[in-house]
Formats: sequence, structure tokens, C-alpha cells
Amino acid sequence: MRVYNFSAGPSMLPLTVLEKVKAQLTDYNGTGMSVMEMSHRSKPYQEINDKAESLLRELLSVPENYDIIFVQGGASTQFEAVPLNLGVNKKADYIVTGNFAKKAFKEAGKFTDAVCVASSEDKNFTFIPKVEANAFRKDADYVHICYNNTIFGTHYNYVPETGDIPLVADMSSCILSEEIDVSKFGVIYAGAQKNVGPAGTTIIIVRKDLQDKFQPICPTMLKWATQTKEKSLYNTPPCWSTYVAMEVFQYLKDNGGIKAMHEINVKKAGMLYDFIDNSDFYTNRVEKADRSLMNVPFVTRDAETDAKFISEASKAGFVSLKGHRLVGGMRASIYNAMPVEGIEKLIEFMKKFELENK
Ligand SMILES: *Cc1c(COP(=O)(O)O)cnc(C)c1O
Repeated sequence: MRVYNFSAGPSMLPLTVLEKVKAQLTDYNGTGMSVMEMSHRSKPYQEINDKAESLLRELLSVPENYDIIFVQGGASTQFEAVPLNLGVNKKADYIVTGNFAKKAFKEAGKFTDAVCVASSEDKNFTFIPKVEANAFRKDADYVHICYNNTIFGTHYNYVPETGDIPLVADMSSCILSEEIDVSKFGVIYAGAQKNVGPAGTTIIIVRKDLQDKFQPICPTMLKWATQTKEKSLYNTPPCWSTYVAMEVFQYLKDNGGIKAMHEINVKKAGMLYDFIDNSDFYTNRVEKADRSLMNVPFVTRDAETDAKFISEASKAGFVSLKGHRLVGGMRASIYNAMPVEGIEKLIEFMKKFELENK
């Protein structure tokens, strides 16, 4: 039996995609082998790679002056790759809105003069600061943001205006959940394992004119231009993960694309937040305007009751609801693949638990 998996990542994938992958597991498209066993230089894999790129470009309306690559290393490797790739002046401005944003900021400090221009840490990252264009240094190589804060359940409800300074965004936990205007960003990166596919592949969408701004010490493998030139095939790519991601892209396209997905996500998150806000048993501490559609943290009256909730929920088939250790309580991660039914059933369970534990 499949459970409702509320894990922040790796997380649920659409069952349709898993079934399709299963059917092709030992013999992909009549090749007599699995994608896991296939040379990345073979024609079938080149087709997967091309298709993943073109489907993602279509889904997110990525303009022609951007490259899309699939690389290894996860989003965390981009924390150091960003300052090494955008390092003409060796100055970078960061908005720190959570744990991953902070990690990115700290890592950048090893390779560039990184400055934190705004932070929400004083309120335990429960809001997104409004930052105006004049907050940034004019000669900064880039401004870095984390668009959706997975651990704290916040999301930007605006795109910071940075003028001519390229905006770099970590979108690991919200990519493909909503339509975005890619042209407002210089670089977008995201690990796959939250809302795209299995862990392993990392999406990078990078404007073409930003690919010659690297520091001389930038390692070949971290340099975006290395992979954009070779269409993600400079070295062995994360073949399996990119293949499943491609099937997820196809699935999204077949189901109305990102616009349709966003409407469902608004509905799902709305149901859960409404229920929490109308309850005097559960609380979400995030500023309403800055709430995430993907990650919904909540607490009961005390840690003991939270622990009981998590344990009973798990037995009832709602798994991985434990909040991150930095926040405590619960967190329901409700990415694209979580069906509306999963939210309805979770709310039913929450009602029952409330009655029994009030
Ligand atoms: C999960 C996550 C990361 C870390 O991703 P890895 O692929 O594990 O390196 C970075 N940023 C955000 C916003 C995340 O949610």
C-alpha cells in the first residue's frame, strides 16, 4: 500500500510516472537495457537528455538566451559554484531567509566578498524581508535569494528588483510549482529531489551572457560554461535521475502544465492553511503573505503533543510529518505529486487527533 508521504525531500513522485518507469525498467524503448545501464553517449540517452531540456524549456517558458543544464552535486554544490561562476568584482549580496540561504551565504564567503543585505533570522525566519533595489551594492556580481524556504515554510511573494545586477535564485523546493518569469533571473538552480524527480540531478537555468564571468580558479566541473557547451554531457551525467525528471516533465505537460499545477497547489495549501487558521489547536507561525505553497509547518500546544501527533499520523499512513529540528513541530511538504485527496485525508486525521487530545 502506498502512503501519503509528506517528506520535504526526497519526496513523492506521480504514481503514473513511477508505473511508466517500472514498465521500462529492464528494457527501455526496445533497447534491451535499462536507462541505468546505458551509455550517456548512446542515441537513446541523447534523446532523453534533449527531451528533458526541451520539455523543461517549454514548461517554464525559458527564453532562448538561457541555457538549461542537468548536473550532479545537488543544490548545495551550487552554493560554491555561484560565487565561482559570477566573480568579476568578487562582491555578492545575499538575502538570508532560512537555513539554506544562510548556508549559501556562508559558502560564498570563501570565494567572494559576500554581504548579507537583509535577513529574517531575528524572527526565526517566519517572514520574507521586502528589499528595495537601492539596498544592493552597485558593483555586486549578483544578488542571491532562496525563493522558497523549505524548512521554515516561507516563499517570496515578489521578485526583488535588482536593476542590472543578476538575480540568482535557489528554487529547489518550488520549481515547477508555479509559473515564473525566468527573464527576471540571471540564474535559477534546483536540486531535483523535492519537486522534480529522484535525487541526483540538479537543474541550472543560466543566462548566456553570464557564462564568462567566472573567477580564474573556478574548477572545470563547477563552471556552468563547461556543461552548457557540452549540453550537460561533459562528463557522465546523472542519467537515471534526469530520465525520470524527463518523464515528470512529460507528465506535467500532459496534465495542463505549470499553470494547472499551480492552481491545484493553491487549492491544496489553501485547504490546509484555512483549517489550521480556523483551529485553536494547531498553529502556523509564518506571516500570512509570505507562506509557502509547498512546505507547511505547524505545531500543537507543546512538543509532547507534537511527538504524539507525528507517531499516530505515521501509523495512520501519513508519513514524514516531523518538522525540521530547527523549527520542531510538524511540516507537511505538499509538492506537485501530493494529491488533493492526501490533504483532505490529513485534515480529517488532524480533526480526529484534535478531538482526542484537546
Ligand atoms: C533541499 C534544499 C537544498 C539542498 O539540496 P541538495 O540537493 O541536498 O544539496 C538547497 N536549497 C533548498 C531550498 C532546498 O530545499
